[in-house]
Amino acid sequence: MSELAGRVALVTGGTRGIGLATARALAGAGATVVLTGRDAARAEAVAKEIGGHGLGLDVGDFDAVGAVVRRVVADHGGLDVLVANAGIMENALLGMVRADAVRRTLDVNVAGTVAAVQAAARAMARRRTDADGVPRQGGAIVLLASVVGTHGAAGQAVYAASKAAVAALARSAARELGPRGIRVNAVAPGVVRTDLTAVLPADVLDAQAAAAPLRRLGEPEEVADVIRFLAGDGARYVTGQVLGVDGGLVP
Ligand code: NAD
Repeated sequence: MSELAGRVALVTGGTRGIGLATARALAGAGATVVLTGRDAARAEAVAKEIGGHGLGLDVGDFDAVGAVVRRVVADHGGLDVLVANAGIMENALLGMVRADAVRRTLDVNVAGTVAAVQAAARAMARRRTDADGVPRQGGAIVLLASVVGTHGAAGQAVYAASKAAVAALARSAARELGPRGIRVNAVAPGVVRTDLTAVLPADVLDAQAAAAPLRRLGEPEEVADVIRFLAGDGARYVTGQVLGVDGGLVP
């Protein structure tokens, strides 16, 4: 499959989980993929495995996010796809929530995503010629929201609030950037088996699996396939959407 041939894609937090599965899916669809991770050496090593490029980036550093996007544009001639995937989840009941955890979560999940969208939009709005010589303007941005951003979850109020913000960011950015040919969508995964959810107690995971009409947890590749769709031309008239990838989970 070469649906994304000639396109340059950036995936933040691409060293494991949904980000890695997405980087692999985009590379499999023919894109030149740059993935980032907090540890540059690890990002480079993982990227090599999928035939992509790796860069170090802490998305909690707003200015560093812009610098990485500019570096991608300088190295690869432009940016066509951004998947702002990097995110953290720190669980605590409201009575136990600490100010530093709130700031960290909002810095990484919200400010880091805003920074990536801002820098990517600047790059995508420019007219350019892709690696296959095709003139291009615009691009596709996919953000990582969550079912808990819509439905809420006990013990996850701060994380849920950050993901509701991401969904609102996708809808707002789609309105601002649509006239420049830039589509912005989000996926809202249910519970997907990654390191992020491995910290949840087994009975919570079992209950989530049982609550989903499809009666199981999700796999990173199942989210990646939907992200690849949203990033590609099959979704060329889709923007401002927050698409559940959750096995049909309802509150
Ligand atoms: P994960 O913990 O396996 O991977 C998260 C990635 O983000 C890692 O590569 C990590 O290094 C990176 N990251 C975290 N903080 C970073 C920072 N400050 N700077 C740069 N990179 C950073 O998690 P995952 O389950 O693959 O989650 C990926 C995204 O999907 C997250 O935004 C998460 O909130 C979202 N999500 C996950 C689930 C799920 O069930 N797993 C559900 C809904 C949404």
